[in-house]
Amino acid sequence: MTKRRLIVSTGNIHKVEEIKEILKDLPIDVLSKKELGLEKINIEENGKTLEENAILKATALARKVEGMVIADDTGLFVEYLNGEPGIHSARYSGVDTTDEKNNIKLLNRLKGVSLENRKAFFKTVIALVDEKGNIVTVAGECRGYIGFESRGEEGFGYDPLFVAEGYDKTFAELGEGVKNKISHRAKALEKLKEEIIKILEDD
Ligand code: IMP
Repeated sequence: MTKRRLIVSTGNIHKVEEIKEILKDLPIDVLSKKELGLEKINIEENGKTLEENAILKATALARKVEGMVIADDTGLFVEYLNGEPGIHSARYSGVDTTDEKNNIKLLNRLKGVSLENRKAFFKTVIALVDEKGNIVTVAGECRGYIGFESRGEEGFGYDPLFVAEGYDKTFAELGEGVKNKISHRAKALEKLKEEIIKILEDD
């Protein structure tokens, strides 16, 4: 019997590897957009929440492929900045920007702000669309604070600025081994795994 397919709607290789690792025990084939030759498909993320964006991306890809589809959307929410950059995390400092520029902007927005006011959390929402069009969403959060300078070489995005609760190193200093055990995405992926198991059992 051929295995059910799960197609991951992201071009980020780090995310694909992390997802494959967490779901490796399930009797499904996890494939990236790239492995299906669909990496050029780019969906405009014009939703008002992480949930809306994740669903937009997953349903758009689901119309083009056979199998279950997942898409994720992540934001960094800084309390002192009323949730900025939030759903605008990727384009915080402009449309064609870089992680470095986003990090500089965030540090500037927090200039002079004390440690106790630098609380922040990452949130990831993953939307899953099955072959029948049923949609499930799961979320994961990781709380911490924004450091005073960029530190560490690993990871991506805001990792050099984010220090998770209970740690004194940034995600970029801790590296993927530790980050992938405690991160917002790891928590969302564990919940996703439970949802996929339920779907497989229902069949
Ligand atoms: P996306 O929804 O995963 O595309 O991410 C939105 C923004 O958040 C981008 O600027 C990413 O670089 C950033 N981002 C997403 N996940 C992480 C993470 O795990 N660590 C640091 N930054 C992240």
